[in-house]
Amino acid sequence: MTMEVFDFRSDTVTQPTPAMRQAMANAVVGDDVYGDDPSVNRLEALAAEMLGFDAAIFTSSGTQANLLALMGHCERGDEYICGQQAHNYKYEGGGAAVLGSVQPQPLANQADGSLELAAIKGAIKPDDHHFAKTRLISLENTIGGVVLPQSYLAEAQTLAFDHRLKIHLDGARLANAAVAQQCDMAQIAQYFDSVSVCLSKGLCAPVGSLLLGDEALIAKARRWRKVLGGGMRQAGILAAAGELALTTQVARLQEDHQHATYLAEQLQSIDELSIDMTLVQTNMVFAKPAASLDIQGLVKRLAEQGVIISGGSQLRFVTHKDIDANGVDKLVQGIKAFLS
Ligand SMILES: *Cc1c(COP(=O)(O)O)cnc(C)c1O
Repeated sequence: MTMEVFDFRSDTVTQPTPAMRQAMANAVVGDDVYGDDPSVNRLEALAAEMLGFDAAIFTSSGTQANLLALMGHCERGDEYICGQQAHNYKYEGGGAAVLGSVQPQPLANQADGSLELAAIKGAIKPDDHHFAKTRLISLENTIGGVVLPQSYLAEAQTLAFDHRLKIHLDGARLANAAVAQQCDMAQIAQYFDSVSVCLSKGLCAPVGSLLLGDEALIAKARRWRKVLGGGMRQAGILAAAGELALTTQVARLQEDHQHATYLAEQLQSIDELSIDMTLVQTNMVFAKPAASLDIQGLVKRLAEQGVIISGGSQLRFVTHKDIDANGVDKLVQGIKAFLS
């Protein structure tokens, strides 16, 4: 018998559900570059409806969806304001600068992941030929597993409007934020001109993300997607799984959040790990290890037991569909055994 494996590195490791595999096998498809794939068209229409936008575009990844948003809102020589820890600044290879000639203006994230509104205001450049043209504010929700309050989103939207800026949300885990706040995704999305969402994380689709916005933005994004080599042909095979991600996997995220809270509570009894429980809000737990903890040794020992974690100066554990309470117990017991 093969050992059951629990992989805590990320929710991107989730396996597609049996229903997704079935839907993929049976998907009606066409050439999506011609706009002829009924499964892609249905997914885009469904997502636009669910999130409250005019239009949507299916993309190969969340990175591509964010890049299309940045290149859609900004032109060469423009800039976007974002967090130092923002995925679309720090973890996407500098794509907006490399491929879009768009300059990032990063600001320090506060402890809760938000950007201080006064700092955003202070970073908006006056109309002067010395400066790049500030066009866009980009926020992230959830960020580090933390949910931004909607009162903050409303204030950020007003700030953007008052300065004639657009406002984008990297909502890779928007569904987690919505479940945590017990609201629809549209409720959070309403504060933004565009939103990107990942179908391939906690929502368990094998591949794919979406960018949502108005017709003009999505038309521009469609052009850039083709330029980037992201025009996919019979992509309905993927969209069929994406549709089930949106219709069947959102409410289930509640279980991931419960497992994360349960994990954090268990880890609190371990002296060598310190956890800020106020930041455990969705499916992520961050633990700061004591200097004495042999992290590489721990990673190796757990792997031998079928528990996969990523090492680092901060340990990050992510819960998802393929981790149950039993998996959490196995991780906690594995750490305790290693330390004793
Ligand atoms: C995962 C992630 C992305 C990018 O998604 P990929 O599909 O991995 O390219 C963007 N933003 C955030 C916040 C993410 O967590």
